[in-house]
Amino acid sequence: MGRDRHGRKRAVFLDRDGVINRNVWNPKASQYESPLTADDFQLLPGVLGALAELQRAGFLLFVVSNQPNYAKGKSAIDASAVIHRKLMTLATNAGIIFAGCYYCFHHPEGSESGYAGSCICRKPSPYFLNHAREMFDIDMPNSWMIGDRESDMQCGNAAGAQTIFIRNSRRTPVHTVADCSASRLSLAAQWILASSQRAS
Ligand SMILES: [Mg+2]
Ligand SMILES: [Zn+2]
Repeated sequence: MGRDRHGRKRAVFLDRDGVINRNVWNPKASQYESPLTADDFQLLPGVLGALAELQRAGFLLFVVSNQPNYAKGKSAIDASAVIHRKLMTLATNAGIIFAGCYYCFHHPEGSESGYAGSCICRKPSPYFLNHAREMFDIDMPNSWMIGDRESDMQCGNAAGAQTIFIRNSRRTPVHTVADCSASRLSLAAQWILASSQRAS
């Protein structure tokens, strides 16, 4: 498991907010948003176990996340780095190694120079998945993109990966282009493991 007959590796690409960690209620905006501080960064239940199982089955793990808070003037430049380090610490302590963590810090309507405007990497662009495929020789049709937004599904589809939509309390689209949906990452991981057994 984990490699196809050409030796290519299978991967699971994970959106971060709403999949790995909780979105945080912002009363001012009346909506759930990505965490602005490390204290607000809390893993969802079962995430470390699910990632460990996928890793054990041979899947490379990647985080692919849009993080426009700095571009929008909502957080300091180093806040994202502090949160990233917290994720790395939690994962490493559980024996989980991410092959890559890809963040887009841009936003089309951003206000911070250098981060505002269009970019090549913001999901739904498949830029980071394509980059990983080249870097790691990934078998994309047998790899997966997991996310809680339609843009995650569009990103996975554009790269030729299979997609799993995480239904969380924040938003449930009527139409989704996902191959399947799950209420949390641990169930998505079970689906992937069962599918890859059928395929091998
Ligand atoms: Mg998300
Ligand atoms: Zn970008």
